[in-house]
Amino acid sequence: MVRTPGADDDGEFPAPDVERLVSDIDLAPFLGRAVDPTATPLTDPVPVSEETPPLLALRDLLTDPRFPELFARALRAIDPDFREIFPRDATGVLGEFVRAMSWALETVENARGDRAEVERVVEFARHLGVDHRKLELSTRHHERFGEALTDTLRHLAGRGWDDRLATTMDTAYRVLSTALREGAAAGHGPARVGATVVEVLRPTRDVVVVRLISDVMLDYHPGQYLSVLTPYTPGVWRRLSPSIPANPAGQIEFHVRDVPGGALSGSLVRGVGVGDRWVLARPLGMLDVDRTEPFRDVLMVAGGTGIAPLRCLILDMMRHAYNPRVHLFYGARHPGDLYDLPTLVDLAATAPWLTIQPVSESDTDPWWAGARQELPRTLHRRQTGTLVDVVTGWGSWADRQVLLSGSPEMLRATVRGMVAVGTPRENISYDRP
Ligand SMILES: Cc1cc2nc3c(=O)[nH]c(=O)nc-3n(C[C@H](O)[C@H](O)[C@H](O)COP(=O)(O)OP(=O)(O)OC[C@H]3O[C@@H](n4cnc5c(N)ncnc54)[C@H](O)[C@@H]3O)c2cc1C
Repeated sequence: MVRTPGADDDGEFPAPDVERLVSDIDLAPFLGRAVDPTATPLTDPVPVSEETPPLLALRDLLTDPRFPELFARALRAIDPDFREIFPRDATGVLGEFVRAMSWALETVENARGDRAEVERVVEFARHLGVDHRKLELSTRHHERFGEALTDTLRHLAGRGWDDRLATTMDTAYRVLSTALREGAAAGHGPARVGATVVEVLRPTRDVVVVRLISDVMLDYHPGQYLSVLTPYTPGVWRRLSPSIPANPAGQIEFHVRDVPGGALSGSLVRGVGVGDRWVLARPLGMLDVDRTEPFRDVLMVAGGTGIAPLRCLILDMMRHAYNPRVHLFYGARHPGDLYDLPTLVDLAATAPWLTIQPVSESDTDPWWAGARQELPRTLHRRQTGTLVDVVTGWGSWADRQVLLSGSPEMLRATVRGMVAVGTPRENISYDRP
């Protein structure tokens, strides 16, 4: 209701009086740079030697353990948008920024004028720029990011900051932000696509199967993963692999496991509900079945929700009349964790080229896992052991194209174990964690 001065007198402030009152309060100390963490000098700045080349001095400032926390606060202070763009705990993502930026500074320093080496760094930044399209950054964001970065490094250097560092930083950041913007401009397809959760299944206590319809079709290749932003942990992007191929109806399915201690997965698994809105971006990834003739048979090894991209590839193969033989090892800790087995058995029933080998580390389910569902019958009986032990127990699979998908630990163990029994390393493909 709009109120006019003196319209009534029921004890509330008339609207214009409220505005006057608020405008009399000096809000400056509560806003923007007043909370800038770089405002007070450090008692123990990072030592900067004049002997150190400026690019390496900047790297030393960046890799100071105080940098991520100070930079996160400087970003939040300089532009409120960064509070939404970055997660509340931004140390993880800023840690990645530090690793990439220090690699870039060192590589350019060591290039000693070698243009090809410098171009490698610029190309990497362009590549990153394509991925950053999902963040919808404006020129102002790039400028503010650069200002916060320079402020934080200057703050860490204290009295050691000089014109030499300021000029080098200015040039390095201009090159970086230009490459990022060039990359973003070159990207094609929608930068991000909204999607609505339409169904949630809970096949085990720690896995959810989430079905969504995207606002427009997102064209990914089977086996690729997407960058996903959910409402459960704002600003936290994670990679998830669709378990069904892209289709004109925009239907997408993800399988997500609760990783203890993780930033997103726990709140997603507990909190996801029908009607939630997610943001999906940028299909990426290398998992693919090589269909060059003559076909090389395929070995697939999936741990837990790592089944998603491999099952997507299998579903896609079912559209072809003729396929290489696929031997799929599907493993989990307990037999009851093999939640996707019923679907896989249905697929194998109509795909004579597909064989499924269930594997679990233990023979029985723990009491707290709830009532045991009978596992469907597969051609090969379930074997007990870790995936790597069972897979390598069959031999070296040296004649196969090998596709792996699972936790970082499972990937490491399986690659190491397979190479040790004679699988050529170049035959093994997986997307790096
Ligand atoms: C290419 C790719 C595709 C992926 N696809 C899927 C998918 O389809 N479904 C899915 O559930 N997850 C998938 N992930 C993992 C996912 O991106 C998240 O890392 C995971 O959901 C945990 O997120 P988080 O924020 O809870 O924990 P994070 O903060 O990301 O990670 C916490 C810790 O757990 C480790 N970790 C990450 N994933 C696993 C895992 N599966 N098992 C054990 N430890 C793990 C991380 O290395 C880190 O040390 C994929 C990852 C990659 C790289």
